[in-house]
Amino acid sequence: MKTIATIVGARPQFIKVAPVSRALAATGAIREVLIHTGQHFDADMSDVFFEELGIAKPDHHLAIHGGGHGAMTGAMLQKLEPLLEEVKPDRVLIYGDTNSTLAGALTAAKLHIPVAHVEAGLRSFNRAMPEEINRIVADQLSDLLFSSTDTATANLKREGVDEARIFQVGDVMYDAALQFSERARQQNSLQRFGVEPGNYALATIHRAENTDDPARLRNIVEALEEVAQTLPVILPLHPRTAGRMKTAGLAFSNVRTTTPLGYLDMVALESQAAVIATDSGGVQKEAFFYKVPCVTLRDETEWVELVELGWNRLASPSGGGLAQAVLQAIGSKGSSGQPYGDGRSASTIAEILGR
Ligand code: UDP
Repeated sequence: MKTIATIVGARPQFIKVAPVSRALAATGAIREVLIHTGQHFDADMSDVFFEELGIAKPDHHLAIHGGGHGAMTGAMLQKLEPLLEEVKPDRVLIYGDTNSTLAGALTAAKLHIPVAHVEAGLRSFNRAMPEEINRIVADQLSDLLFSSTDTATANLKREGVDEARIFQVGDVMYDAALQFSERARQQNSLQRFGVEPGNYALATIHRAENTDDPARLRNIVEALEEVAQTLPVILPLHPRTAGRMKTAGLAFSNVRTTTPLGYLDMVALESQAAVIATDSGGVQKEAFFYKVPCVTLRDETEWVELVELGWNRLASPSGGGLAQAVLQAIGSKGSSGQPYGDGRSASTIAEILGR
């Protein structure tokens, strides 16, 4: 029996873990020890995903959150090192690009424990993003790199990663979408939010480059307010965004904000929206899974295939025209394609980890 220590801490990681944990258990040959760093800790940013997606209760919860990047990552390193020494896993499994990803990779590498990285090779080529730094370091320290797309694989090869260590397995968020969208459809979410299928916009904002820059944040708030003149806009408000808006003296009046949603409500709202406007990586992909046009409120995207296929377009919050971009996207369609695999990426990962 192999022991895999999975280290997660943030919302998108819980969604990625769900199909993979299930696939690891199904091998019958892997014991997974789940470590939650505590990076996201509110019930609606953490617990709801464990409940809805049937993820086992974490074996260890480090309760680390808040503070700057240094304080948070440092506290994680401090707690993870003795824990991994005690658990003695055969391998550490990390996901995506958060401080929990970075801390997991660094702690394991220093203890000479092999590291596998899910969503390896993703690049924005913008090192001002904390996520980009986390990804680059995580990939450098990993010996198994699970890439989602052709582009991610090409990025790793260009950086000189040994091809024998790269496994293009598809995207585990697509697995999650296929596994949970039927249940999401049964939620009556639209009724609860008082909107009709195909007649509202869904928006999410949480990336530091938008929330921590008052001018960009103001542009986004004003643009979404303008869109709300034409059709209802629903916006589940990330705690960071709520905090930054308050500091910047910004408020929504016509946009319908809610607390962060559970995954099933989120999928129900995504899949029936007229358009999605977001700076989230996961939400961009999910828009494509449900064939809903998406406007990415950023200067660049890691998920370039979505733009190439025509399902997504970039609109920079540092300039104008955001509201028009969102409204113009309604009714548009892209080409067909399957850049994220066939929905069996979690079982491929489990099979490789079990070897
Ligand atoms: N999500 C959710 N509720 C929300 C907002 C997002 O369940 O209120 C889900 C979304 O469906 C996707 C994931 O969270 O699966 C994306 O996470 P997030 O936007 O926090 O991070 P990113 O993908 O940008 O790393």
